[in-house]
Amino acid sequence: MSKQTFKIAAIPGDGIGVDITQAAIRVLDTLAHVNGTFSFEYTNFDWSSKAYLERGWYMPPDWEEQLKKHDAIYFGAVGWPSVPDHISLWQMILPIRQRCNQYVNVRPTRILKGTHPPLAQLQGKPSDLDWVIVRENSEGEYAGQGGTTHGHEANAVATELAIFTRVGIERIMRFAFETAKLRPRKKLTMVTKSNAQRHGMVLWDTVFYEVAKEYDGVVEYDKMLVDAMTVRMVNKPESMDTIVATNLHADILSDLAAALAGSIGIAPSSNLDPTRSCPSMFEPIHGSAPDIAGKGIANPVGAFWSAAEMVRWLGKGQLDEVADKFMVAIENVTGQPETRTKDMGGSANTEQVTEAVCKEIEKVC
Ligand code: ATP
Ligand code: MG
Repeated sequence: MSKQTFKIAAIPGDGIGVDITQAAIRVLDTLAHVNGTFSFEYTNFDWSSKAYLERGWYMPPDWEEQLKKHDAIYFGAVGWPSVPDHISLWQMILPIRQRCNQYVNVRPTRILKGTHPPLAQLQGKPSDLDWVIVRENSEGEYAGQGGTTHGHEANAVATELAIFTRVGIERIMRFAFETAKLRPRKKLTMVTKSNAQRHGMVLWDTVFYEVAKEYDGVVEYDKMLVDAMTVRMVNKPESMDTIVATNLHADILSDLAAALAGSIGIAPSSNLDPTRSCPSMFEPIHGSAPDIAGKGIANPVGAFWSAAEMVRWLGKGQLDEVADKFMVAIENVTGQPETRTKDMGGSANTEQVTEAVCKEIEKVC
């Protein structure tokens, strides 16, 4: 069989995004080398807030064409204190998600070996928290529609319009049910706020129950209001498995999920185009963390887990075992106190964790 080469667009971005992307590439290359059936070819894009401040733009006019020449996008983090967050997000990450048809954002959360979750219940039984959050990634509250009158003056009025389409809701529901169906517990919780928001959220409810009919007897399902959901995530984590929510709700819930699992530095995310007409994008959920940027101490585990999900996606079912072993290698490292970063209670730096994961890959994969 000939060796497969995956073309990866690497966008390190800002702050610790640079450190963890470099670490992820090193680990991915080790994995490819050990496995021998595939390799990666990277194009590095210097699209960042730092570049924006120097030259006035994040991405060039033909960015879409450039990205679409690749099989996947690996993204570090974007955002810097001297650029308002709504500018950096709308200059880069949100246009990529929207123009590359990445309408699903998948965020798995479980408690990796060696993490210390804040809830006492989970310290005794880490397997109680094992979720996949499926986030609608293309519309809803982040549609970018609205406007202001009178600027930000005393009489300013601003509207922020959430857009929900039946097509958009139906495709995310189907993806969520299919995800739930493939997991051992076969359970889906749909999150909404349809008591207070009586248009789009009620459409979410309607479409959810319509699609649910196709999964009767196959997937167990229920509905939660987002406020009550935060309580359930803390009090009864074991009662849920797959969770589907809007762009905004899932954004917030996945940060909560990451904190409950022990550290935001661990959590991965996949921005997927399930139709595979555009490249999907893989990134840790954390931001550029300016407070620890340039110190070489960022936890690269979320970046490695995202890389494992990228391998799984690129393999179209053929590399699942490789991705699983990659995860074993990562957990063998987080399981050892001497190879944990500060946010996980250790004192190792990014380089030491990366080196340890590469060694484990050589043993396990
Ligand atoms: P964004 O707006 O992009 O979501 P944010 O402002 O929410 O970013 P993060 O950059 O995610 O914030 O960082 C939040 C906190 O978590 C920071 O104090 C940072 O030190 C810590 N943190 C985030 N990622 C990591 C990591 N990989 N390793 C260690 N600490 C991290
Ligand atoms: Mg954040």
